[in-house]
Amino acid sequence: MTSRVHHSSRLELSQSALRHNLDFLRRTVGDHPIINVVVKANAYGHGVEQFVPMAEKCGISHFAVASSGEAQIAFESLSTDSSVMIMGILHDSDIDWVIENGIEFYVFSLRRIEKVASIASAMGKTAKIHLEVETGGNRTGIEQAKLREALAIIHRERKHLQLVGFCTHLAGAESLSSKFRIDRQVDSFFRVRRPVLRRSRQPIYHVASSAAAMIRPEVRLDMVRIGTAVYGLYPSPDVHNTMLLGVRNREDVRLRRVISWKTNVMQVRNVDRDEFVGYGTSYQAPRASKIAVIPIGYGNGYPREMSNRGNVLIRGRRAPIVGLVNMNMCFADVTNIPGVDDGDEVVLVGRQKNNEITIRSFSEFSSALNTEFLSRLPADIPRHVVK
Ligand SMILES: *Cc1c(COP(=O)(O)O)cnc(C)c1O
Repeated sequence: MTSRVHHSSRLELSQSALRHNLDFLRRTVGDHPIINVVVKANAYGHGVEQFVPMAEKCGISHFAVASSGEAQIAFESLSTDSSVMIMGILHDSDIDWVIENGIEFYVFSLRRIEKVASIASAMGKTAKIHLEVETGGNRTGIEQAKLREALAIIHRERKHLQLVGFCTHLAGAESLSSKFRIDRQVDSFFRVRRPVLRRSRQPIYHVASSAAAMIRPEVRLDMVRIGTAVYGLYPSPDVHNTMLLGVRNREDVRLRRVISWKTNVMQVRNVDRDEFVGYGTSYQAPRASKIAVIPIGYGNGYPREMSNRGNVLIRGRRAPIVGLVNMNMCFADVTNIPGVDDGDEVVLVGRQKNNEITIRSFSEFSSALNTEFLSRLPADIPRHVVK
């Protein structure tokens, strides 16, 4: 979507950072597993329309999303014949659309399997399903007691149901403190897949998201579903520390941030000592100050938790956010930065000269996950692919 009118900020997506992360993940998981790139939540805020072709350029041909709505946008963003897989909600009324377009999708109930078989049969087509099994996560997944019946139906309806995958999801592999729970899930998965292993045509087995793919080699299997790490973030300090144990140089396990977020100073103003800045009384200038007004607020995805806490970069220097983050603007103290002027570039996330604002810094002041902030970046901010 190109527009003549400017938006109040812009996002840049680095093709070379993405390539670095995918090369690193390929070395980490080895040659065998398919790397399925998870692009739910608008590619974790990066913009699915831009991100899918970027990943395809790096050789990725499998994508995963959370809903049929997301599947449609991802599918329309493909520039090759890559596959799209729905891991979450698929409404009955969308089943014919996914079958028609060869979209793969999770099934986790007998009723759904029967329904899909009857729709596919009426269409004279074959649905590509991944059977998700419950192993202790208690999110979605078919109960193990119903697995044999599920496999029997899939076998009976084999003209219209192709069992592409057999999978589960681990409940928090990024946290070493839940290791006992994850161990039980992994054992459970290996146990329940035995009846499937006896089939003549083998499905793809997949279990791991970023954390497990990096630190649990035994669950890399045939495919890994990776979101967080592809975008250049470690799922947790536990995962980062575990990876560091295996190398001499921390550069060897470095991921690179793909996204940068930039805007420009809207106005620079002088504020006398003891004046309040913005709404309310949360910030009172302790000295005569120079304040840069920035045209970004919580309505633009900049978290209100950054009020009086965050930092932005202007002229290569760090400027603290002062006062409350408003719906469409916030304020930075630039008293110590010489020469700041209207229109100067402001970096909200990313590098400027020798300084950097990390995505992690956004979760330091709140309970928000780093992926939470990203996934809330509004879809209407223009995204540009850069080298
Ligand atoms: C989101 C998700 C993933 C990817 O998780 P990351 O930790 O971001 O790599 C994998 N599998 C399922 C089922 C998911 O919902």
